[in-house]
This record gives sequence, C-alpha cells and structure tokens, in this order.
Amino acid sequence: MNIVLMGLPGAGKGTQADKIVEKYDIPHISTGDMFRAAISNGTELGLQAKSFMDNGSLVPDEVTIGIVRERLSQPDCNQGFLLDGFPRTIEQAEALDAILADLGKSIEHVVNIEVAKEDLVKRLTGRRICKVCGSSYHLIFNPPKEEGKCDKDGGELYQRADDNPETVNNRLEVNIKQSQPLLDFYAAKNVLTNINGDQEIGKVFADVDALLQSSRN
Ligand SMILES: [Zn+2]
Repeated sequence: MNIVLMGLPGAGKGTQADKIVEKYDIPHISTGDMFRAAISNGTELGLQAKSFMDNGSLVPDEVTIGIVRERLSQPDCNQGFLLDGFPRTIEQAEALDAILADLGKSIEHVVNIEVAKEDLVKRLTGRRICKVCGSSYHLIFNPPKEEGKCDKDGGELYQRADDNPETVNNRLEVNIKQSQPLLDFYAAKNVLTNINGDQEIGKVFADVDALLQSSRN
C-alpha cells in the first residue's frame, strides 16, 4: 500500500498518519524524519543536506529527491509506505513517479484530509498556553476548567503570536496555493481521494480505512 497523505495545517493529518501506519504496518516517511535519518547515518546526501541546513538555506530539490530515493529503496518499504510532507511541488511529484517507476512501484492512493478553511482557522486559533508552566489548552478541544486560567497552577493563558487569526489565515492561504496544483495533478491520475476531515477522529479514520481496504486484495 503506497500512500501519499495530504492535508492543510490543522486538518488532523498527523493523527491519521499514526493510525494508518499502525493498522497497515507500513513506515511513516516524513521529510523531517528522512533528513534526520540520512544525516545521522552519515550518507553522502545526508551530509549535503546538513551543509545546506547548517547554512540556514533550503535543501535543494535534487538532494531532497535523492534522500527520498534512498529511503524508498529500503526493504521496510517493500510492503508499502506512507509519505507525509513530500511531494510539495509538481516537480517533486514527477520525480517521485520516476523513482517509484525505477523501483517497480507506483502511488496507489493520495489521501487528502479535507477541512474547510474557516474551520481550520477556528481550530488553529483556539490554542492557549499557560504563562507559568507552558501547558497547552484549546478553547474547543481541550478547554481549561476556568476561562483564561491554567488547571494546574492558575497561570494566565495566552495566545501565541503564530496562532492569531491573520497569521493563521496567511499560513493557510500559502498552503492552499501550494497544494492545489498537486491535488489537481493526482486527481488527473485518478489516485486522489478527498476524505471529510470535519468529523470525529475515529470517523475520519473509518473513511480512510474503508478506502484503503477497498483496494486491498
Ligand atoms: Zn500552568
């Protein structure tokens, strides 16, 4: 089962990724983990990536793609994999297709966890942090017992600058612009399925699972 998982920030992609890899016993391949592994294994590409990161510059596509190739060539990917955070561009998606073709594989499912932007804004702006102990709350999903106060120490709760509506909205807009061409690319290949992410976590996973089961034989 070769899967690419997509979804905007706040859509619950990480939670679904955990559930998918657990049930299907496939590796969860995120770009961050891949870079860290390549660097700690001291591979040539890992060292190249590290030199870019140490300079504070973006890792160029050819290095990223090389690292993806190394990772997908490892034996634990023989039964499938869940890619998360890659590809981000059409160029990367085309490179991924070429890598997989060389390995005699292909993407079977692109699962897009879909949540309306207004709902994502609500989710992403609801976070509140305790000034005293740093505990994290959420106005909707994990509210404190008393408004504005930490359950543990009564500390004042505040909203991080990153979580204000304008910043969140901008972040989402950038992500939407970036991901739409990819969604179109995979839709044209008939591998894209949009999953309604505006449901309880268990129901979202039930939909994902039904999709993956339906193609398993
Ligand atoms: Zn606290």
